[in-house]
Amino acid sequence: MRLNPFNTDNIRVRQGGDGGRFPGGGGGKVGCGTIVIAILAALIFGVDPAQMIGQLEQGQQQTTGSGQVAGSQNETAICNQNAYAAEGCSALDSLNSTWAPLFRQAGITFRDPTLTYYTGGTRSGCGSAQSAMGPFYCPGDEGIYIDTAFFNQMERQMGAGGDFARVYVMAHEYGHHIQKLTGVAGQIRSAQQQNPRAANQLQVRMELQADCYAGVWAGLNRDKIDRGDLQEGMRAANAIGDDTLTGGRGNPENFTHGTSQQRMDALRSGFEAANDTVCDRYMEFR
Ligand SMILES: [Zn+2]
Repeated sequence: MRLNPFNTDNIRVRQGGDGGRFPGGGGGKVGCGTIVIAILAALIFGVDPAQMIGQLEQGQQQTTGSGQVAGSQNETAICNQNAYAAEGCSALDSLNSTWAPLFRQAGITFRDPTLTYYTGGTRSGCGSAQSAMGPFYCPGDEGIYIDTAFFNQMERQMGAGGDFARVYVMAHEYGHHIQKLTGVAGQIRSAQQQNPRAANQLQVRMELQADCYAGVWAGLNRDKIDRGDLQEGMRAANAIGDDTLTGGRGNPENFTHGTSQQRMDALRSGFEAANDTVCDRYMEFR
C-alpha cells in the first residue's frame, strides 16, 4: 500500500515503557512453536484486552513504564524508530483522515485514538501490557498498543508478511476504536452480560465488524492499493481464523474471532463496498 508519509499534526503517538520482559523468553526465543504461534495469533486482532490484561495482572508482575504524550518532535522520532513504526504512523494518519469525515457526516463525535509503541511491556488504560499479547485496542484510554517486534513474528511464524498484512492489523484495531465511538462496543458488552452463553458469538460479530471496517478503509483508499495487497490481507485473515488456529479441531462454540472464511469475507466485503454501512450487518442481532 502506498501510504502518504505521516504528518504528526494528524496523529497522536506515544512511546510506551520498555518494561518487563515476558517471562520465559520475550523477544526472540520461542520454544514450543505451534502452541506459541497459536497463542500469539489468537491474540492479534483483539482478544478482549480487558480480559487478557486481567489475567496478566493476576498472574504476573506489573510492568513499569508510562506512555507519555509526546511533542511533535518526539512523535517524529517515535514514528521513525524503525520502518514498521513509520508505516504504522502513516497508516494511522490515513485512518484518521478517512474516518473523521465519515463520523462528521453521521453526526457522531469523533476522537482520534492514540497509538503507543512499546517493547517488552507497558502500562495501558486497561492495565499492564506485554508484547506477547500482540497489538490491541484499549477502550479505557482509546489507545492502540503495538509492539512492532510483533510484525516480525507475524511474518516469520504465521506466514502473514507484507505491508498490507501489517496495516490491516492497525486498521482492525482502529475498527475497535470506531466501535467504541459509535457505541457498538458498549452494546455488545451489555448483550454479553445479559446473555453470557452468547458471549463468544457476540465477540465474533465484533471482531468481524472490525475486519470489515479495515476493508472499508482500504476500499476508500483504493488508489493507494498495490497489486497483491488484498492477497496479503487475505493471507493474514486466513492465518488468524479460529478454525485455522485450532487446526480444524476447535469447537465453533469457543470461537471468538470467527473462522478464516468469515474473516476473509469480512475484510473483502468491506473492501469491495468501500462503505461502512456494509459492516452494519454484523450487528443485526440488536
Ligand atoms: Zn479485534
